[in-house]
Amino acid sequence: MRRPFAISRRHLLASAAASFAFGHGARAAEYSRSWTFGNVTVSKIVEMSAPLPARRHFPDAPLDVLDENASWLAPHFYDPATKNDISTYQAYVVRTQRIVLVMDGGYGDFLPSEAERPGQHRESFVDNLRRAGVAPEQVTHVINSHFHADHIGWNTRRDGENRVPMYPKARYLFDRKEYDATATAAATNAGTATAFNACVKPVMEAGVGDLIDGDLDLGDGLRIVATPGHTPGHHSLAIASKGRRAILSGDVIHNPIEVLHPEWTMGFDADKDAARAQRIKFVDAHTDVDVTILAAHFGGPTAGKIVSEKGGKRVFRTLVP
Ligand SMILES: [Zn+2]
Repeated sequence: MRRPFAISRRHLLASAAASFAFGHGARAAEYSRSWTFGNVTVSKIVEMSAPLPARRHFPDAPLDVLDENASWLAPHFYDPATKNDISTYQAYVVRTQRIVLVMDGGYGDFLPSEAERPGQHRESFVDNLRRAGVAPEQVTHVINSHFHADHIGWNTRRDGENRVPMYPKARYLFDRKEYDATATAAATNAGTATAFNACVKPVMEAGVGDLIDGDLDLGDGLRIVATPGHTPGHHSLAIASKGRRAILSGDVIHNPIEVLHPEWTMGFDADKDAARAQRIKFVDAHTDVDVTILAAHFGGPTAGKIVSEKGGKRVFRTLVP
């Protein structure tokens, strides 16, 4: 195993150069961004950012609340002009001295090109990964918060007619409950079958997948934590190093408004009650504590903390980059 790249000035300069390649510096900064927690570096690698009608995310919620909170939701998480939530689809790369872990990664390239979503820029995902200093063959571990198609896409890549693991030297750690539930759903749901067969099955067939049960300590301050609800085998990744803490929370929350209203039903939650309970527990546990939250779909500055304001109102405050 080669020693993982460290984040260096050279990489920052490479990112700056990439900004010009995109032709818009401020926007390009959103394709990759890094944070350090003790001996752990986390980088986001963005596949795309896309607006979605807020009503699709929150089928029953009083959406006026989004406008009332536009001062901290806009422009990165909500667009008051169109009433759209903005969701970012991205991978997180977590690096220690010994580990290069990739969590999630967007839709990948398993769908036919005519099914691509507006704003998707799949071709550049691997380039963005490399710009962040990560070559696919350096990755030692891959985890998926869950098996929805927007999280497993880049587990694999095209190889002629076949699909092969994107990260050839990594172990893919799949939650057994998630695996079993998705395999069962794939028997009757064509969309689930397409994603599962393209992005999970080839990993197992290549012999680089391991099924794990519940929590797992990976060492170096990284711990996989079961957070079921959004899906049966959903999990998050907790980081603790040298007194610094962060959590890669996956889809426990989807938009920062859920910090204020964790009780809202989210349209894509598999088990609405379990997801709500998990979300409330998560928000309660992370309010006014020094834990940086990196949720799967938060774009722009992405990282932030839950803080309670005067009167107890909870908001998500992004870190100053
Ligand atoms: Zn998602």
